[in-house]
Amino acid sequence: MKVLFVASECAPFIKTGGLADVIGALPKALAAAGTDVKVLIPAYPALQGLAGGGPTVKVLDDLFGGKAEVRAVHAEGLDVLLLVAPHLYDRNGNIYLGPDGQDWPDNHLRFAALCYAGAELAFDGADGWMPDVVNVHDWQAGLLPAYLSQSGRTSPPVVMTIHNIAFQGLFDASELANLRLKAEMFAADAVEYYGKISFLKAGLALSDRIAAVSPSYACELLTPGFGMGLEGLLRERRSDLIGILNGIDIATWDPESDPHLVENYSARSLRRKRANKREVEARFGLQRRDGPLFCVVSRLTSQKGLDMLLDCLPGLVAEGASLAVLGSGDGALERQFAEASSRHPGQVGVTLGYDEPLSHLLQGGSDAILIPSRFEPCGLTQLYGLRYGTLPVVARTGGLADTIIDANEAALAAACATGFQFAPINATMLEQAIARACAIYRRPRSWSAMVRRAMRQPVGWDASAAAYDAMYRSLIAD
Ligand code: ADP
Repeated sequence: MKVLFVASECAPFIKTGGLADVIGALPKALAAAGTDVKVLIPAYPALQGLAGGGPTVKVLDDLFGGKAEVRAVHAEGLDVLLLVAPHLYDRNGNIYLGPDGQDWPDNHLRFAALCYAGAELAFDGADGWMPDVVNVHDWQAGLLPAYLSQSGRTSPPVVMTIHNIAFQGLFDASELANLRLKAEMFAADAVEYYGKISFLKAGLALSDRIAAVSPSYACELLTPGFGMGLEGLLRERRSDLIGILNGIDIATWDPESDPHLVENYSARSLRRKRANKREVEARFGLQRRDGPLFCVVSRLTSQKGLDMLLDCLPGLVAEGASLAVLGSGDGALERQFAEASSRHPGQVGVTLGYDEPLSHLLQGGSDAILIPSRFEPCGLTQLYGLRYGTLPVVARTGGLADTIIDANEAALAAACATGFQFAPINATMLEQAIARACAIYRRPRSWSAMVRRAMRQPVGWDASAAAYDAMYRSLIAD
């Protein structure tokens, strides 16, 4: 079976969040099960070195204002189809944002081009390679099934995976013709969404199946609080919606071999984790304390609930704990975390920015990771936490609810707890969860039993890749 993935990011080449991790890992897991995946992504500057090395498999004479081509390369264990279109992607800085911090003004064209090129590959294949199924990911790839649908040509079935429904790709209706969409596409059962064009809505309305990145998120999406305006459509499409939990790339994220740790370790050599803790303390200017070292590795946005953590800092510090934060995003939150580190010198350390190696060190060197998200489609950092024996403290929502077993009395008695959950999602309950974690940390045998159990959890892709595989096969059989 051959599957074409279409997405705007793919680790390790280009990453702004969890989407990239998934696009970089799931194809490899599918390949292990015998499914042949190629990933179409734009050739941003970070990928141009790669593009030079591969043959051209498709030429598009006018792709939204310029000539483009698709180059096929094999790198990092992935078959990548690079969409080379300098007029759209040859820009330095963030792939979504211009230097002013605002969306690139032509983002609608940049990602429509990705969808359009993906549709061409869906029709004609790439050098004899014809996809049986197309899997589009998030709003940036959402228009692809619209291009298939309006053509009237025979095309493969499409799966749309929702990694985060909060980002919908909304654009002015006057762009319809510029996006090469036929007038009939501006309809409630296609791209129209309250008078605008929504890339995500197009994908959800016109694809054959919809996958959400965790079973709990798939349920939550049917409700007004989480569906973000698309809950009605998703309720109509309920029988085509499935929740499949994300996994992680257990080769890249492996405490036994991770090159970003100062010492590698396993569940059998947990003492060696301490050298990483000392390194985190040094890098974040933290004193050695009696309580646990908590970390945060996150985008700083209201979704992630870190404003609630700011309210809990006096309590966290009073418990004898410390905190290392790596994050970037919302300017006000960045300032507040910087101020918090000045208010609690040696106890709260903050690094603002995006730093992949440091994110690995934090997973390796911390005792626990805090993820108080208001909503979380799946979340990957709690899975990295489990794998590195860094116990997750999480809000009970979405994929966080599906992957962490709370250390309540029953779970402790049954020896199955792997972290700490809190609900309802507010600062008081977060503070209580932090206090519960600190209390167990003071019982070293209970803590290390939990750490070892966490490290044994199956966080790889095996089961979920099999679920994707089964979904693709059911579509081909239809
Ligand atoms: P989201 O996709 O909503 O940002 P996820 O938990 O699914 O959240 O994935 C986030 C990914 O981005 C993880 O791989 C995490 O380690 C990484 N990440 C987030 N913030 C940073 C940062 N400041 N520096 C390095 N990596 C980060």
